[in-house]
Amino acid sequence: MLGLMQDWPMLCHRVIDHAGLYHGGREIVSRSVEGPIHRTNYKEVRERSLQMAKRLEKDGIKVGDRMATMAWNTWRHLEAWFGITGVGAIYHTLNPRLFPDQIAWIMNDAEDRFLFVDITFMPLIEKIAPMVPSLEKVIVFTDAAHMPETALPNVVAYEDWLAEVDSDFEWLELDEKTAAGMCYTSGTTGDPKGVVYSHRSNILHSYMAVQPDMMNLGSSDRMMPVVPFFHANGWGTAFSCPMVGAGMVMPGPGMDGQSIYELLSEERVTVTAAVPTVWLSLLQHLDKSGGDLPDLKSVIIGGSAAPRSMIKAFKEKYDVDVLHAWGMTEMSPIGTICSLKPEYAALEGDQRYDILTKQGHPPFGVEMKITDDDNKPIDWDGKSFGRLKVRGPAVASSYYKNRGAEQFDERGWFDTGDVAYMDQYGYMQITDRSKDVIKSGGEWISSIDLENLAVGHPEVAEAAVIGVHHPKWDERPLLIIVKKDGANPSKESILQFMDGKIAKWWMPDDVIFVSEIPHTATGKILKTKLREQLKDYKLPGAA
Ligand code: ADP
Repeated sequence: MLGLMQDWPMLCHRVIDHAGLYHGGREIVSRSVEGPIHRTNYKEVRERSLQMAKRLEKDGIKVGDRMATMAWNTWRHLEAWFGITGVGAIYHTLNPRLFPDQIAWIMNDAEDRFLFVDITFMPLIEKIAPMVPSLEKVIVFTDAAHMPETALPNVVAYEDWLAEVDSDFEWLELDEKTAAGMCYTSGTTGDPKGVVYSHRSNILHSYMAVQPDMMNLGSSDRMMPVVPFFHANGWGTAFSCPMVGAGMVMPGPGMDGQSIYELLSEERVTVTAAVPTVWLSLLQHLDKSGGDLPDLKSVIIGGSAAPRSMIKAFKEKYDVDVLHAWGMTEMSPIGTICSLKPEYAALEGDQRYDILTKQGHPPFGVEMKITDDDNKPIDWDGKSFGRLKVRGPAVASSYYKNRGAEQFDERGWFDTGDVAYMDQYGYMQITDRSKDVIKSGGEWISSIDLENLAVGHPEVAEAAVIGVHHPKWDERPLLIIVKKDGANPSKESILQFMDGKIAKWWMPDDVIFVSEIPHTATGKILKTKLREQLKDYKLPGAA
């Protein structure tokens, strides 16, 4: 017998309907790309996304068409996602930090028909557009007054284009499994691979994200997604905030410490989210210029491991809780968040930070296991590590065009490429990406643990660790340091700082100082480049 309940498809635009109707006045504040702060609310965003859907329909956009966006987080980008999904088309976020050739490759792979773009990126698009034959129209997220000059054909100002219709439109009724969004992994290892979210996966992911033990979002929050919409589905914030009626504060192009601080404080942000490099620049700004964060309750940090020193600085200097999160583009993206369950809630001091530096536990809807190379489960003993595998309704079932099929097994488990361990209460800790782990004499050393420790040294701004060839041990860790402005730590002082905090055989064989560490387009340490730069490097005593 089947249940006798309604079949109410989980569609993205239902979220903006809900926000517009029940939280209509809640503010959406953006630092506009043109400069001034712009204010709107869910009621208006809903109206304008209906208008946009109608406008897309007028242009002949159909279910399944790919609509690229290359834009900062602003109200226009938000309403565009709903307008696009509202006609059954697919928002496809492009990361402007990739090389033009990579972006063109991705656009051609996705066969994007339209591109919505911020004025900032027009010079880049002028290079890319001629390489993408499927591209019919470029819609610039601005008004006529701010339109940049361009020699490209078929370029229109968004506000003019939109104004050609009204908002009298009915969302399309779609199957909830219809594709809604697309995001390519940044291809730090191999060609980029397309992940295709469905309406259903986006909605179920939002239900997971807003829960108290996850992002803990509600209508009294003002959430600032500093993480760009083009990174890993914008961490789902475009759906989770309107789902609960949380106000949104959008940083636009202002990603530096000072601009972020201004919005956090002037707009009384309560929850925010971004990768560690962003928070590094905020903390450095606060160190230099002073300031406090009285309204901010929590900072969600993910994308790379949040160093213990960062978690401590937020708590001890600003009384802000860090929620360390792990996820992937392939997971919509939340996998785990580190909130404290009752088993750990009473811990204090270092023991508390020991837990808070873990990546945390999954919401209902993310299943996890760790296995050895033969797919045998590994005990959750808090120390034995192995391959981390996941499955769930907001986890990719395959990549676009079936690339990377070997990462998915027949029982639906997706191999994340991360190496991790689990503890007895189901807290996961990443030790490394499987490609970055250092294999020394048959044992594994976590590059992440070493980096996190080194960055706790008061004179270190950033640290990276790679494995370099060693004739006896196969690989040994090399520590690469960027010094803090004005500081001059010695190799010995750094090694002394680390000594005693890790196993002797984990100690780096050498420390080198550089002015800059290369990063990926999503702000992670670009280990492939570091390895290449240092391929001729010889460890002391290992000639
Ligand atoms: P990209 O590599 O394209 O930036 P993702 O954001 O999807 O895209 O990258 C996911 C990977 O980032 C994870 O598989 C993991 O290796 C790493 N990662 C994400 N969050 C964390 C975290 N909190 N700690 C350590 N690694 C993390």
